[in-house]
Amino acid sequence: MLIDGHNRKVDYLRISVTERCNFRCQYCMPEKPFSWVPHENLLTYEELFAFVKVAIDEGVTKIRITGGEPLLRKNIDVFINMIANYAPHIDLAMTTNGYLLHECAKELKKAGLQRLNISLDSLKSEVAHHIAQKDVLAKVLQGIDTALEVGLKVKINCVPMKGVNDTELVDILEYCKSKNMEVRFIEFMENAHANVKKGLNSQEIQEILKQKYDFIKNERTGSSPSQNYTCEDGYRFGIIEPHLDDFCNDCNRIRLTAEGYLIPCLYFEDALSIADAIKQKDIPQAVSILQKVLQNKPEKNNWNDQQQELSQRAFYETGG
Ligand code: SAM
Ligand code: SF4
Repeated sequence: MLIDGHNRKVDYLRISVTERCNFRCQYCMPEKPFSWVPHENLLTYEELFAFVKVAIDEGVTKIRITGGEPLLRKNIDVFINMIANYAPHIDLAMTTNGYLLHECAKELKKAGLQRLNISLDSLKSEVAHHIAQKDVLAKVLQGIDTALEVGLKVKINCVPMKGVNDTELVDILEYCKSKNMEVRFIEFMENAHANVKKGLNSQEIQEILKQKYDFIKNERTGSSPSQNYTCEDGYRFGIIEPHLDDFCNDCNRIRLTAEGYLIPCLYFEDALSIADAIKQKDIPQAVSILQKVLQNKPEKNNWNDQQQELSQRAFYETGG
């Protein structure tokens, strides 16, 4: 079992398989980074998988493939299949912008992927275009339909932003309800890379939704980052509230980048590399680095502290 320095059980690994992306979302990567990590510095699937095995053997039970845009990494289904074959009991999911999903949803399902979180910030094509800086909506909606058709479980991620998509929250919820998908509204997390004036906090999101729905707050169970709410008709949605003081109380997550950095927290820049240990097949060393990173895991993020400098961490590196 993996326990961090604050006595929290860590059983969830998120792997960012590439920092590259085909969108330029205002809240994440509004501009192309000065340079990309060179391809030769990326861990191969075999190397990533060697660490995945270490993590699973040490107690990880949930794995999410993310990015950048994970569907840009060639043959991602091969990597998924390696994990699914090694540990069929693992909860195996992916977060994607959905743009390339129509073409590959079937292969992903066949490879052993169970669940998808798909980002959808607007149902208006000009607003989606403004956010992603590309005409994306039609392809994303097609990708969502295909994913559902092939039997993948889908949740929708939406980042509400003042004056951008805040008038659409009810429509987005209705759309998700009509397709039997849970929506999760994510509070915008301020960071040095983003180009967003203001995100909506959980209270503001709830006030907008309350104009149309009656809902109750569910009791929190497990370590899901999402606070769930249930509407009168039984529909459930979530809000991810990283600005709340107790958000990190039961954080169970650790992140691995495509270059092999293990990152203990989405907010801070700390990281240790497992790349050399994995390339040298030194498994005890990889375990020891993993344990060190867990000991370094901060108690909580600083998003609720206005006095702090902006987080320098890029979401496209960590995968969110
Ligand atoms: N490219 C994929 C996607 O967009 O779904 C996966 C990577 S993306 C970094 C993962 C999630 O992080 C997305 O749902 C995105 O909306 C969210 N995200 C990115 N930047 C964010 C920010 N500044 N605040 C809140 N959520 C953010
Ligand atoms: Fe790309 Fe996802 Fe970041 Fe948007 S949120 S720029 S799709 S990595």
